[in-house]
Amino acid sequence: MAKLLEFQGKEWLRKAGLRVPVGRAASTPEEARQIAAEIGKPVAVKAQVLAGGRGKAGAVKLVDTPEEAAAAAAAILGTEIKGYPVRYVLVEEKLDIAKEFYASITVNSARTARSPMLMFSTEGGMDIESVPEEKIFRYNYSSLFGLESYEAMDLLSKAGIPNDQLQKFAAFLTGLAAAYKKYDCFTLEINPLVLTKGGDLVAADCKMDIDNSSVYRHPEMGIEVARDFGHEPTELDIIGWNIEKIDQRGSGFVMSMGFDEKSPGYIGYHPIGGGSAMMGMDALNAVGLKPANYADTSGNPVASKVYRVAKVVLSQPNIEGYLLGGFMMANQEQWHHAHAVVKALREVLPKKPGLPCVLLLCGNKEEESLAILREGLSNVEGATRVEIYGREHVTDTAFIGQRMLALVKEYREEKQRQGKSSGS
Ligand code: GDP
Ligand code: MN
Repeated sequence: MAKLLEFQGKEWLRKAGLRVPVGRAASTPEEARQIAAEIGKPVAVKAQVLAGGRGKAGAVKLVDTPEEAAAAAAAILGTEIKGYPVRYVLVEEKLDIAKEFYASITVNSARTARSPMLMFSTEGGMDIESVPEEKIFRYNYSSLFGLESYEAMDLLSKAGIPNDQLQKFAAFLTGLAAAYKKYDCFTLEINPLVLTKGGDLVAADCKMDIDNSSVYRHPEMGIEVARDFGHEPTELDIIGWNIEKIDQRGSGFVMSMGFDEKSPGYIGYHPIGGGSAMMGMDALNAVGLKPANYADTSGNPVASKVYRVAKVVLSQPNIEGYLLGGFMMANQEQWHHAHAVVKALREVLPKKPGLPCVLLLCGNKEEESLAILREGLSNVEGATRVEIYGREHVTDTAFIGQRMLALVKEYREEKQRQGKSSGS
């Protein structure tokens, strides 16, 4: 999902009419000082990363003066939390907390529900995973009619909110459900939802994930990449995302896997389909090779899209091979893949002569596709280690891995010989 940082999510909540603490994001200690001075009272300085548990990690600091806010920002900015570099801190009014609650909405994809699901607990502030089950209250509401006030009150009452507070809490939850819908969220989590000593309900934290498929409906959010990587998007990730973004026909997925573009044993990886991709990884891992990247061209993509993916996969410096991993009897017409891969390899192999290429392509229009590969890659400059396989090896990970390894060994020896002769 397209995850927003806390300060971004809170901004959208504010625009949807929900109460959030007064504050803004800062990227320098000096900015943090200014914001704290503007607020004019004690503030919370909070690291902005796409990871929870900042409280425990010491990345939420409560301070009294602008100078202390600057010092807190200086201590937090530039550090890393769970692998995410901290580029911003949120400086916002410190809340006078009477009690912390938990509220969230997510998609309940269970066959019996298929609806948004509201979750509420009086035990806020900690990981919801560590809240005892009997303290968590769930309610599936209609995606058509939204969350009605009486439904929210019913749930809140069961959760133990006293009668005289029900209206206020229900207003917050129906507002949250409206924001959830307005922004096409997948998950919207407020933890803690703070009841202040003054009796106000304030969203003290916000995790907002926009449904990837709906990101195009929200240009106002300026989301660059509607995809989860589990790391900061790399150049490869962004290029990969753009292949997908400009053409919706079938999937053309490319993503980094931590290849440093130097280490030996990495193969430009072009699997077809998710399960097939797992099998291809087995094939490589079993012989001590590794996928340089993740990819997937399935769901019947057009040849132009497959070609772009192949080119990006092949563009990675110092890969020792290219694996087209069609470890499945695909029902998409494989000749689009064949044409795409032929075009990509005809362009790349003259520049990477002798690069090991193991091409496994099975399924619909297989014979025609293999013929396209064979014809298209014969008499191509640099195409000296191209092996083409079909259905007789469709699940044969051991064989495909061994063929890849054999070619990689030859390729390395050839490169060594060339290095020696050019060095002498
Ligand atoms: P997380 O740990 O990454 O989820 O970060 P949170 O924003 O949820 O902060 C963790 C904890 O810090 C909260 O549960 C609160 O107890 C505390 N906290 C956060 N903001 C404030 C604030 O404005 N005032 C006070 N008093 N405590 C806060
Ligand atoms: Mn939190």
